[in-house]
Amino acid sequence: EPPEITKQKAILRQVTDMMHHLLVNTTSGEAALAYLTKRGLSQATIDHFEIGYVPGDRQLMKKFLDNREVSYDDQRQSGLFAEDDQGQLYDRFNDRVMFPLKDQYGDVIGFSGRVLDAQASQAKYLNSPETQLFNKSEVLFNLDQAKNQFKDNGGAVLFEGFMDVISAYQAGVPTGVASMGTSLTAEQVSIIAKQTRHLTICYDGDAPGQHAADRALGLVGNQPRLEVGVVVLPDGQDPDEYIKAHDAEAFQKQLKHTLTPIGFRLAYLAQDRDLSSDQAKLDYIDAGLKEVAREADPVAQSVYLDQMSQLTGVPAATLAQSLPQALQTAPAPAV
Ligand code: ATP
Ligand code: MN
Ligand code: MN
Ligand code: MN
Repeated sequence: EPPEITKQKAILRQVTDMMHHLLVNTTSGEAALAYLTKRGLSQATIDHFEIGYVPGDRQLMKKFLDNREVSYDDQRQSGLFAEDDQGQLYDRFNDRVMFPLKDQYGDVIGFSGRVLDAQASQAKYLNSPETQLFNKSEVLFNLDQAKNQFKDNGGAVLFEGFMDVISAYQAGVPTGVASMGTSLTAEQVSIIAKQTRHLTICYDGDAPGQHAADRALGLVGNQPRLEVGVVVLPDGQDPDEYIKAHDAEAFQKQLKHTLTPIGFRLAYLAQDRDLSSDQAKLDYIDAGLKEVAREADPVAQSVYLDQMSQLTGVPAATLAQSLPQALQTAPAPAV
């Protein structure tokens, strides 16, 4: 590891410890701690993820690193500061709950800060900018911990947000990872594929979440090594909300109740269509049969045709007759 990298990691480690201390041991962190407690996080979970707090004065980190004789250039490289016209540094994060972001070896490489109460004027989450350490497109939140659990717990679970990863952890699911607010990248998929053969995608149950899950499936399809399941949570809830509304046991059950990629596509394609109209029904059947044609196993095919039949009212046997035609126009089989 280049000395520059080691030095930056040491800076972020010190800052992580300082912010965690502020959250759990000081009066300045009281409101933030109350916020996390209200969201249901236990002290043990807060410690496990080393969650912290940074106050609103925009001077704290600056003073902290000045006191430790960290040079201007090193401070500037850290991603912890913004810069005014005179080149003076001031804290990038203010009055936020801070989540350390770690690489797969557990070294802190950046932060995401959440506002305590969402006002329209402020971004809900603010991340570190891209730095020498922090490359958003390849970070997976919690991978450092989760990867040791994949083998004994049925592989990785991919969530949309890190509050979902944290809630899942508290609900007895230690295998959660999340991309950093951006949509999933091919790099992240290949990093997951190096660690496990089983992936469960569990995005938010709302429309944007389902759309993102569909997009993620497209990426994952290029990794033949990965066996993928998709969980669709009810009522548009995200995993964190689902756990609050139900309990750990119900959530773990949901995670076992997976759709195959094709099963998900069939449900997803039906979502935005009004299947009471003939044209929409025909369009849906056309698109759906192309999905079913990707499946080589005739038993699985028949399960999917039943699913389509239930949604459209067209007998499965009739749908089956059109399958050879769909095969000709379908993309290459998924596996
Ligand atoms: P919370 O439960 O704290 O409101 P969430 O994870 O449910 O957070 P979503 O709105 O579902 O938040 O967004 C999913 C993910 O997208 C977040 O975890 C975060 O990484 C990212 N994100 C959301 N809003 C922003 C934002 N304003 N700026 C940057 N990233 C964001
Ligand atoms: Mn969402
Ligand atoms: Mn969410
Ligand atoms: Mn949420």
